[in-house]
Amino acid sequence: MRGAGACAAALVAASCAAPHTETRSWPVMGTIARASVEDPNGAAAIRAIEEVRRTFDDVNAVMSNWSENSELSRLNRRASVEDYRIEDGDLAECVEAALDAAVRTGGAFDPTVGPLVTLWGFRPKNPRVPDDRAIAEALSRVGAGKVRFDGSRRSVRFDVPGMEIDLGGIAKGYAVDLARRRIAAPRRFGLLDLGGNLGWLAAARGTEAVADIRDVADPDRICAEVRMRAGAAVATSSELENNFTEGGVTYGHIMDPRTGRPAVTDVVQATAIHPSATVTDILSTALYVAGSLRAPAILDAYPGSEAVLIVREGAGVAIVASRSLEGRIRVVPGAAAPRFTLPAATMPPSKTP
Ligand code: ADP
Ligand code: MG
Repeated sequence: MRGAGACAAALVAASCAAPHTETRSWPVMGTIARASVEDPNGAAAIRAIEEVRRTFDDVNAVMSNWSENSELSRLNRRASVEDYRIEDGDLAECVEAALDAAVRTGGAFDPTVGPLVTLWGFRPKNPRVPDDRAIAEALSRVGAGKVRFDGSRRSVRFDVPGMEIDLGGIAKGYAVDLARRRIAAPRRFGLLDLGGNLGWLAAARGTEAVADIRDVADPDRICAEVRMRAGAAVATSSELENNFTEGGVTYGHIMDPRTGRPAVTDVVQATAIHPSATVTDILSTALYVAGSLRAPAILDAYPGSEAVLIVREGAGVAIVASRSLEGRIRVVPGAAAPRFTLPAATMPPSKTP
């Protein structure tokens, strides 16, 4: 695998010196970031992790809905009254990918859910079940089709006052992609994890990269593991992360833009796999909202994507996975075998959105 044992004694020391692995974790974007970087030069690995940290801070500073001072908050204040010209190139790219995702996913992913996220008390934190009138009012301010975006001018205009763009379902994946691009180097390996949005720099050295699928019934355990391809990304959406319970009912932070309520379908956990972490962040949210029946069409809209869905079935759950994962997924002893009924990933994407 690695280290001195793999080197013939006659080789010069510099060419077979054990690579250094540095690992750090820190809080950012309301979650935990972890970066593990292996590099022939230990100081370079540490510098790469510092660059990852700066990248996540940069994305947060521009795309946060929690801070009044982010450019996204400024956009949300201005785009109801004028064509707002986006200054930050990453913000423009992320807004474009998010609006495009609304089209590709048939509206399951919709970055204009902000009024619903606020109404249900997920941002700012004030959990409550709103009445139907309030939901209808908020829904009048939701819908990516009511946003006019001009990519060449980077301008955004809302058709309805009080709309807002919420990048909570895509910004973490986008940040992982940006960081991977910034620190890419020959002979550098590693894994970035931003709140469950994982992106490998390349296949793990010596061993293959593996992603764990959490057991929804017992979140401290895993129910399966999936072998990743080189440079892959993976993200999972479920209600385990952020929810509240009222009157015996649990409400989660992923909204169904059709109903104006927290999404409830047969999918209790959606894991998406694709070379782009931006895409996996979009897809995990979209598949969770859309349910398993709409999953094939959504996966088709992102060529090269794969998924592992945990779906309700009778009193229990079942694992439904992409055909292309057959042979790469291993369930833990006692777990039911997956059904490989989702469309296979066909061709690798030529361009990541
Ligand atoms: P997490 O943030 O736990 O990783 P997701 O990636 O699924 O989970 O993103 C959930 C966040 O995305 C919510 O907090 C909200 O800001 C936003 N969001 C909620 N519902 C949707 C939706 N249907 N489409 C796009 N974004 C959504
Ligand atoms: Mg997401």
